[in-house]
Amino acid sequence: MDSLADKDRRHLWHPFTQMRDWMAEEPVIIERGQDARLWDTKGREYLDANASIWTNIHGHNHPRINAAIRAQLEKVAHSSFLGLSNVPAIELAEKLVSIAPGNGNAGTPVHADSAATEGVDMSVRPERLTRVFYSDDGSTAVEVALKMALQYWVHRGQPQRRRFVAFADAYHGDTIGAVSLGGIDLFHATYKPLLFEVDRVADAQQLRKLMRESEGNIAAVVIEPLIQGAAGMKLWPRGLLRDVAWLCDEHGALLIADEVMTGFGRTGTMFACQQENITPDFLCLAKGLTGGYLPLAATLTTEKVFSAFLGYYEERKTFFHGHSFTGNPLGCAAALASLAIFEEEDTLARLQPKISLLRDELQEFCKLKPVVEARQCGFIGAVEVGPYPWEAKAGIRVCQHARELGVLTRPIGNVIVIMPPLCVTEDELRKICDVLRRAVKEVLG
Ligand SMILES: *Cc1c(COP(=O)(O)O)cnc(C)c1O
Repeated sequence: MDSLADKDRRHLWHPFTQMRDWMAEEPVIIERGQDARLWDTKGREYLDANASIWTNIHGHNHPRINAAIRAQLEKVAHSSFLGLSNVPAIELAEKLVSIAPGNGNAGTPVHADSAATEGVDMSVRPERLTRVFYSDDGSTAVEVALKMALQYWVHRGQPQRRRFVAFADAYHGDTIGAVSLGGIDLFHATYKPLLFEVDRVADAQQLRKLMRESEGNIAAVVIEPLIQGAAGMKLWPRGLLRDVAWLCDEHGALLIADEVMTGFGRTGTMFACQQENITPDFLCLAKGLTGGYLPLAATLTTEKVFSAFLGYYEERKTFFHGHSFTGNPLGCAAALASLAIFEEEDTLARLQPKISLLRDELQEFCKLKPVVEARQCGFIGAVEVGPYPWEAKAGIRVCQHARELGVLTRPIGNVIVIMPPLCVTEDELRKICDVLRRAVKEVLG
């Protein structure tokens, strides 16, 4: 009989994976998880050092989330959101609106280096986020924001506002609209014939210049607040997000904040936007929304945007967009449970000492010869090694070795990512860093 590994190699096609390499290796097949740990079918234990691709928040197999999904499952697994509603989707929308940037009280900056904005309780942009549109993943959350922004300007009688501005090295997902916004050549260049044109800028200064010359034809500016993830965990200078928000206001453009990675505590506050006290016109959420359990996404927007779509049926102002699984009750139940855990377990307060520990641990990485830089944004750590040509697969080889030593993470080129579930213990975090340092030393010398 064929093993599971044989069947995988014969029938599967894995994402972002050179399958030639994959088929030459023995795959790790995950069977179960508990808290920040995972076990494979051979019974080997791993620490989940990238939170299952940046999604997991409170740990695997959390009884609270499991129970919420089970309870909902006993009622109904799915019903359409087109022309119908459901209980957890309604409750989750209310909850998301109550904690959104500008609405909740989780906005106090927690980092010493963000003291500049501390005590400033007035958001740069006074519009509140009041409306929730559900979809399935980060890419669709961004697509929704794009289409809403474009159509908003049509309804407002400014159809010339149809250009989108995105940043160099941006990553917003893998569907065609999201790829159009993307600025990572390795991922995005091949698809160019399919993409729409985007104005690309590298910093606030270029954005200012572009805005001045744009003559009111920019629909929206899209940004990953505080940190660009897939670019290699690149930190924005403090205050850039605020500058971008000011520029949007000054020139009447909408602001789309892609918090697919940064949402739900990752940066130390519930949302990254809260650290610079800005409220975007669109807030895109996915990865951590369900605690990392189920595919569910949300695009939040303002009453200003929403009301532009109101009209007589025959005016065709409807937002013509939706997915089969929009507002899925199981996903919404999981998300409600995840948000309840934030309160019950005081997740954000208990995260702060771990953020300090991560800072100390990153210092230790800097002492290693192959390490050129260690970066941190809240509970996201990134260790850059090199410089090595990408063909050398330095990051991949380090992570492969770490896997043999019981730590799972995935590199971005020469960048080793450290972002375990927020629930990871201090001992586990130390072990993750010890193992990764050992792997860097043993693989790269
Ligand atoms: C992961 C990610 C996306 C895409 O989300 P998917 O769920 O993979 O479609 C979009 N934006 C950012 C910032 C991300 O990190």
